[in-house]
Amino acid sequence: MTGKSAAAAARATVYGYPRQGQNRELKKAIEGYWKGRVTADALRETAAGLRRENWRRLAEAGVHEVPTGDFSYYDHVLDTSVMVGAVPGRHRAAVAADALDGYFAMARGTQEVAPLEMTKWFDTNYHYLVPELGPDTVFTADSAKQVGEVSEALALGHTPRPVLVGPVTYLLLAKPAPGAPAGFDPLTLLDRLLPVYAEVLGDLRAAGAEWAQLDEPALVQDRAPAELDAAARAYRELGGLTDRPKLLVASYFDRLGEALPVLAKAPVEGLALDFTETAAANLDDLAAAGGLPGKRLVAGVVNGRNVWINDLGKSLATLGTLLGLADRVDVAASCSLLHVPLDVAAERDIDPQVARWLAFARQKTAEIVTLARGLAHGTDTIAAELAANRADHAARAGSALTRDPAVRSRTGAVTDADGRRSQPYEQRAAAQRAHLGLPLLPVTTIGSFPQTGELRTARADLRAGRIDTAGYEERIRAEIQEVVSFQEKTGIDVLVHGEPERNDMVQYFAEQLTGYLATQHGWVQSYGTRYVRPPILAGDISRPEPMTVRWTTYAQSLTARPVKGMLTGPVTMLAWSFVRDDQPLAETARQVALALRDEVTDLEAAGTSVIQVDEPALRETLPLRTADRPGYLAWATEAFRLATAGVRPDTQIHTHMCYAEFGDILQAIDDIDADVISLEAARSHMQVARELATTGYPREVGPGVYDIHSPRVPDAAEAAGLLREGLSAIPAERLWVNPDCGLKTRGWPETRASLENLVAAAREIRADL
Ligand code: GLN
Ligand code: ZN
Repeated sequence: MTGKSAAAAARATVYGYPRQGQNRELKKAIEGYWKGRVTADALRETAAGLRRENWRRLAEAGVHEVPTGDFSYYDHVLDTSVMVGAVPGRHRAAVAADALDGYFAMARGTQEVAPLEMTKWFDTNYHYLVPELGPDTVFTADSAKQVGEVSEALALGHTPRPVLVGPVTYLLLAKPAPGAPAGFDPLTLLDRLLPVYAEVLGDLRAAGAEWAQLDEPALVQDRAPAELDAAARAYRELGGLTDRPKLLVASYFDRLGEALPVLAKAPVEGLALDFTETAAANLDDLAAAGGLPGKRLVAGVVNGRNVWINDLGKSLATLGTLLGLADRVDVAASCSLLHVPLDVAAERDIDPQVARWLAFARQKTAEIVTLARGLAHGTDTIAAELAANRADHAARAGSALTRDPAVRSRTGAVTDADGRRSQPYEQRAAAQRAHLGLPLLPVTTIGSFPQTGELRTARADLRAGRIDTAGYEERIRAEIQEVVSFQEKTGIDVLVHGEPERNDMVQYFAEQLTGYLATQHGWVQSYGTRYVRPPILAGDISRPEPMTVRWTTYAQSLTARPVKGMLTGPVTMLAWSFVRDDQPLAETARQVALALRDEVTDLEAAGTSVIQVDEPALRETLPLRTADRPGYLAWATEAFRLATAGVRPDTQIHTHMCYAEFGDILQAIDDIDADVISLEAARSHMQVARELATTGYPREVGPGVYDIHSPRVPDAAEAAGLLREGLSAIPAERLWVNPDCGLKTRGWPETRASLENLVAAAREIRADL
């Protein structure tokens, strides 16, 4: 292994590419197919066209091996379930009747059968369909999709590298099938699964694949010795096959840690490692493990999850160090480019100077190719690119957008006291009780009311110029009036304005904060045919004007009951955006927190006594490695307190988080020091209330008693039953009554009926107390 030959061989590659097409053609074709407007053949043709276009672009850019098999009609984990024959019993009839319709039945369910569960792909905003495996699962190989794409790429003259979810990650991401014995661990199925992978690999070899990539991102998480042993066994066995392509085992999203020596020792031909952000530790770990003698190293030095240009000089330095550690070093993005939008060049509304700092999938591909060229042929062959890159970084660092002196002096002057309420909780609680005069078990909602067709039409009319701003705001006020009068009539105690003016809980604020950018075409797949356009935190954040005050005060003017102000918290504002890479996340969070603090102050000054700051993303951005979590939670909780601690003791701060598992963040829930927290709890029978109680949580809690994910209406007896369960953990003085989450996805009829039942349940229990 000499640095020189490794350098000469350096090539550019990617692990995956955005699937949707320039104009989200895939979304349109699939949704058209579901509606019966597009035939299966037409859908297949669109898909093949998109793959052809992606490969052509990659090859023209200078990528040598193109990824195949990463394309998907819905999700690549679901594709893997199909590949290994893990079709749940309830979907088998649909799959047997028609493979494509059966595939979509697994993804979305049908009138008769429930879909697979969906959950987040590691710490990204992509969602995958969770495999359901049990002791009776029989795996059978179906390599048709993988082989088909290899043949397609070969026929077009490309060198394909099929990309598969690796067997260990596949099992670690699975959950026990319904009916599996308690404690069943899908990883125990490894020995049954490996022969199926062996068969698929044999088919890929026969189809002409020289290399295959097996993705094992689950190995970047903390793993038990038994799990590491399973990984060692899997790759010993697959590596030992004679009839197979060369194997590249890929890891991304973090460092491999203790899994690195395991994979380095495995009899496979290559390893792909992430060298960005916290995964940069892979560099020292790799050196400590003795490098990868005789193997191919694919170095993920271009961040595949952010939208910023690479620091080419820094990446070249990393690559230079790696040259001494492997037989061959290739250059890649840190992960699949699935997680970034397609092309900066499509953006017309972003200042061209600022657009130069941005890199989406196409631009990242070009960076990878440039780095590979520099590595293979010397940095003087990419002198022009390096100079332009340095100039762009300098422009970014010196720009008024990224350096607002007023914002910087403000964050620099933040003290501990700014993040602490002026009185301890017990005193505040007494002041709030006196100020608000609420009954026991006060009833409230989480914020949004149904986003009706009329509201969406109003927004579309405004965009299209069919109505003016005044006309639009008139419609919003009418909606607020209706929502307030409904809540009063129903007997809800703390009202909301219903959030009718918000397109999205992050975008709405991003559009009003200086320092945020919006894209026109920056779509990223969230799940299936759902794409989101995350705003970009590009510069220093400030709030030129109040963002919500007039809507909240308008609602308050219609009623004598308290109306709760409603904001999105700093952690969620970061989690559902593309964040800056030129300063620590803690600093960005502090800037957003101070902007929100201004809004909180203005709401209070305008007479708002209850203010809710939503943090549904607090848990989902937890770092993958537990060692990194305390640092994250420190800045995340500080940002929340900074946003909220400036209020008077008698102003009540609420927060809301919507998921059922809180084990990892119980301490953080305490640390944010909100007076009231509402949580999802209906499906888990108030489990979270019991968990919070065992930690001695001293503040008020609203465990949800209405599952808003379903159109089902809970009757009063059911809600009362849940409240009684809640009361066994939380005393009546500290228990609130509310749904699990906002009501924006629900219709009015079920919303009306459910909230009436919630009020009836609260009244029934109050009478007993
Ligand atoms: N206030 C928001 C709403 O009610 C909260 C949404 C959320 O938790 N995701 O819609
Ligand atoms: Zn929620």
